[in-house]
Amino acid sequence: MAETDKKRVIAILGSTGSIGVQTLQVVEEHPECFEVYALTANERVEELIAQARKFQPEAVVIANEAKYEQLKEALQDLPIKVYGGYEAICQIVQSQPIDIVVTALVGFAGLRPTIEAIKAGKAIALANKETMVVAGELVNKLAHQYKTPILPVDSEHSAIFQCLAGEADNHIEKLILTASGGPFRTFSKKELETVTKEQALKHPNWSMGAKITIDSASMMNKGLEVIEAKWLFGVCPDDIEVVVHPQSIIHSMVQFADGAVKAQLGTPDMRLPIMYALSYPVRLPSTFGRLDFTTMKELTFEAPDLERFPNLQLAYHALKMGGNMPCVLNAANEVCVSAFLHDKIKFTEMSRLIERALQSVDYQLNPTLDQLIATDCITRRTVEGWI
Ligand code: NDP
Ligand code: MG
Repeated sequence: MAETDKKRVIAILGSTGSIGVQTLQVVEEHPECFEVYALTANERVEELIAQARKFQPEAVVIANEAKYEQLKEALQDLPIKVYGGYEAICQIVQSQPIDIVVTALVGFAGLRPTIEAIKAGKAIALANKETMVVAGELVNKLAHQYKTPILPVDSEHSAIFQCLAGEADNHIEKLILTASGGPFRTFSKKELETVTKEQALKHPNWSMGAKITIDSASMMNKGLEVIEAKWLFGVCPDDIEVVVHPQSIIHSMVQFADGAVKAQLGTPDMRLPIMYALSYPVRLPSTFGRLDFTTMKELTFEAPDLERFPNLQLAYHALKMGGNMPCVLNAANEVCVSAFLHDKIKFTEMSRLIERALQSVDYQLNPTLDQLIATDCITRRTVEGWI
């Protein structure tokens, strides 16, 4: 950013998570560019206290109200405002000084704070892909109405966003989302029946929160990203292709009308897309790792196997159906991932339950926010009933 620019004031929702912590590392890398106004967490109060003492934000919020007293007491010697409860997250994002809200909380919980931030005219650095999956159309309308940018943090979408810089209205023929394939890329259908959560939690290339790590192992992450890409870049589902690229060096690609393909490459380090979203359109210097093409042995590509990983197909199906179906897909997936992490269902049962949810929950065209909240609730109850 130009030296004359004022510091960008940011709120980090989910600051104790994988993306939240890395966002704070980006702030530390460029304290002259960014100022932390608010930090929020759900459970990990000790981590939030340590972050608050270090970064001295104006305010902190702990969603779990049972931890509020502990947080308040631990910070009483500092002039930091302390709040408890999920509603407080929806309110803090509206604070006047905030320029950018980083949505690094996980799951459906990201939706309402994102909407409130947009309505307050804040730029969104979007990590919480579930928001766009559940309510992409509605969120886009609001962002347009309130003239706020939605800047992608997800590495694939950041890659596409970077490839589109300078392309103005040039027609996109195809988006090519790369996928690592996860830890079970080479597993047979039979082997997938017995995989454990410990195996699923070991991602080959990225270190992330538990939910997205399971999503990556089941390919649901790529399905959610296809839906996210549709709403961020306005392309038809059929013009979004997924290619498995196990090395995670090419973060995604755009093919244009003339057949030219642009790609963005980098080490698998989320701090780069986070920083680009925060400093856009400027590229700030970084000390993060660099690619060394002389030691890189190979970049390989293969088609995703939809039979072994049906989630990707289910996501395309939900996207093409539209209405509240992506919301059903997301809610069913959140319940299944949690059940798998609690050893209540097998890995392969997740896809079966999600498919059943898509067939069972009533379809609604053009759902309102309240109808989406109701869809989320009904789907959760339905799938929990089956488990
Ligand atoms: P983590 O699980 O590591 O962190 C989630 C954060 O959200 C934590 O701070 C957590 O608080 C908070 N949180 C969880 N539930 C709630 C809730 N109900 N209300 C308020 N806060 C809540 O997740 P990640 O950082 O891995 O992922 C965050 C988002 O970013 C997800 O949507 C994910 O899909 C997306 N993303 C992540 C990537 C990654 O590399 N990790 C890459 C691309 C996208 P606490 O810690 O206190 O429990
Ligand atoms: Mg991604």
